[in-house]
Amino acid sequence: MINSEWSNLVKDIRHHYQQDFVPLHEPTFGKSELNYVTDCIKTGWVSSVGSYVDGFEKALAKMVGVKRAVAVVNGTAALQIALKVAGVKENDEVIMPSLTFIATANAVTYLQAIPHFVDVTERTLGLDPLKLDMYLSSVGSMQNDVLINKETGRVIRAVVPMHTFGHPVELDELIAVCEKYHLILVEDAAESLGSYYKGKHTASFGKVNAMSFNGNKIVTTGGGGAILTDDEALANYAKHLTTTAKVPHKWAYVHDEIGYNYRMPNLNAALGCGQLEKVEKFVEAKRELTVFYDDILSKINGVTLFKEPIHTKSNYWLQTILLDDSMNRDEVLTYLNEQGVMSRPIWQPMHTLSIYENCPKGDLTVVESLNKRIINIPSTPLITSK
Ligand SMILES: *Cc1c(COP(=O)(O)O)cnc(C)c1O
Repeated sequence: MINSEWSNLVKDIRHHYQQDFVPLHEPTFGKSELNYVTDCIKTGWVSSVGSYVDGFEKALAKMVGVKRAVAVVNGTAALQIALKVAGVKENDEVIMPSLTFIATANAVTYLQAIPHFVDVTERTLGLDPLKLDMYLSSVGSMQNDVLINKETGRVIRAVVPMHTFGHPVELDELIAVCEKYHLILVEDAAESLGSYYKGKHTASFGKVNAMSFNGNKIVTTGGGGAILTDDEALANYAKHLTTTAKVPHKWAYVHDEIGYNYRMPNLNAALGCGQLEKVEKFVEAKRELTVFYDDILSKINGVTLFKEPIHTKSNYWLQTILLDDSMNRDEVLTYLNEQGVMSRPIWQPMHTLSIYENCPKGDLTVVESLNKRIINIPSTPLITSK
C-alpha cells in the first residue's frame, strides 16, 4: 500500500518546502508585525488599553463585512460569549457537528448548555442541512415557537455549523432549516478567515459568530479570538461582558453583572494588525499549494485531495486528503511522519470522547467514515517576498 508513489510524494513535498522536516502549519510574519509590536513595547501600551485593539477590531469587521468585531483572548472564549449574547441559556441544547475541535462543545458546556451532535456531509466536511432537517422533524416538536427535543424535554436553541479546515458549509440551506425550526445560527468560523460563501465572507451569516487567531490558524495574534455581528446592541453587550462588565466611569469600579476578563491585550492586537494586512496573500499562497498537491496526489491511487465545495471560495487553511476505504489511515500517518512530513488525523469525533459520549446525537455514519479517512498534510503558505 505504501509504495514508491508515496516516497515520490514525500520527495516532492520536501523539495517544495526546501526542508527535510516539514511542519503541518507555521505562522508567517513580516515587517509590519515587528513594527507594531515594537511600538507597543516602546510606548508601554502592551496590555488592556491601547489603540491596536480598536484598529484590529475595525479592520477585521471591514474584512468580514459585519458592523462589529469584538476582540477577545481566544476563539473558545469568543464562541462562549457569542452563544451567550445570541441567547443560549442553561439547559438548552445546541446542535453542532460531531466532527469538530473540542472548543465548539466546550464553549456550549461552559454556559451549562448541552452539545447535541449531528452528522456532516462529504460535500463540505460540515453540517448536512438535509439530514439535519429530517432529524429535527423526527426528534423535535414546535411548542410556543420553540423547538423541544421530545426525548429529553429540553429546548433545542441554536445551531453551530463549523467551516472545517476553512471550507464553508451549505449556509443557505442551513439558514432555511434554522428559520423553519426557529433556531439561532452561530457560526464557528474559527478556521475560515478569508473564506467566502456565494461571495459573502463566512462569520457574517449567523446572528453572532466567532473566529480564532491561535498560533496555528491562517493569521495569528499569538492567542486570540473575535466575536462578529451586525447587531450593535449585541456587540456592545459582548464588549461589556468580556471586559468584566464594568460600567463606564472615569474612576469608579462598578460592575453590573458577573462578567469575564476576556479582553485581547494590545500587544496581541498589534501582531494581529500586521497579520490582517496579509490575509489575501496567505489565501492565494494556500490556494497555490492546493494546485501543487492536486498535481502530485493525482498520481497516487487511493487518495483524493479535498477541494472547496461549490459556491464557495475556501482559504484552504489545512490541506486535506481523503483516503479510499482500501487505505489504512494510521499506516499512512506513520509513514509520512517518519519521513518528516508532518501529518495529522482529524479530531476524534465529539460523540466518541468519554466526556461527551452521553450527549444527545443523531445518526453519525458520515462522521464515522470520514474520521477514518481524513489526513491533513503540510499547509504553511509559501510566501516568497515577505
Ligand atoms: C481553533 C478552533 C477553535 C478555538 O480557538 P482557540 O483560539 O484555540 O480557543 C474553535 N473551533 C474550532 C473549529 C477551531 O479550529
